[in-house]
Amino acid sequence: MVVASALYGLDDIKNRLIRRQGKWFVRTREIPEHGPFTNRLEAIEGLFRHVEICSGSLANRDRDEARAIAEHFINTCRLPDCPLCQQLALAEKCA
Ligand SMILES: [Zn+2]
Repeated sequence: MVVASALYGLDDIKNRLIRRQGKWFVRTREIPEHGPFTNRLEAIEGLFRHVEICSGSLANRDRDEARAIAEHFINTCRLPDCPLCQQLALAEKCA
């Protein structure tokens, strides 16, 4: 199961979200305004993906898990009961 572990260390997700002119961006250490994303949930996914890559976490996952994350887009995901979608939705609710 893919665990969005990178999100758990980010207790300040809300403070990283920026909304401007109907678009969403996320503030990261490396990129002041990463985006744009079309909605808040996609922005959180963008943050998750960025942190996975920049922290090296993605490289430490097994190949299938890394691919699942790299190729996952919440707006097009059609997997029933997708664990990553569920965790992102939970992160959005908590942010
Ligand atoms: Zn999904």
